[in-house]
Amino acid sequence: MSVALTRSAKNSAGKGTAAPVYRRSRQRERILQLLQSTGTHPTAAWLFERMKKDFPHLSLGTVYRNLGILTEQGRVRRISAGSSFDRLDANTSPHAHFICDRCGAIIDLDEPDVGLGQDVGQGLGLVVERRELRLYGLCGRCAAKT
Ligand SMILES: [Zn+2]
Ligand SMILES: [Zn+2]
Repeated sequence: MSVALTRSAKNSAGKGTAAPVYRRSRQRERILQLLQSTGTHPTAAWLFERMKKDFPHLSLGTVYRNLGILTEQGRVRRISAGSSFDRLDANTSPHAHFICDRCGAIIDLDEPDVGLGQDVGQGLGLVVERRELRLYGLCGRCAAKT
């Protein structure tokens, strides 16, 4: 991977922030755009529904493949929310999630105590590279209905 990365990084110098390993794809850019336009953490099927009109030959498999690339590039995060489908997030800054047990809403929260993982891991000789904080309960709308 590092070879391809170095080579094409030189070729595409100054061409913006898109990761260099993969050719630019209109479909992939559209996926990212759609994900960035919503805070609802949608599924791949949601993306597929919205893209069918502009890309009539698109398949759900292509959406998944592009999502795999975007995830690998660190531009999209997958959230397995307990349901059968991964939910997607184009907000790559560190943040926590609140997941509603009733309606499945996923809400972004500011990440508290960013150093926590490192502190805990250090004593055990662990190298903590990621952390994920999730809170569960009822979202405001569901709580109001109770
Ligand atoms: Zn809810
Ligand atoms: Zn999020």
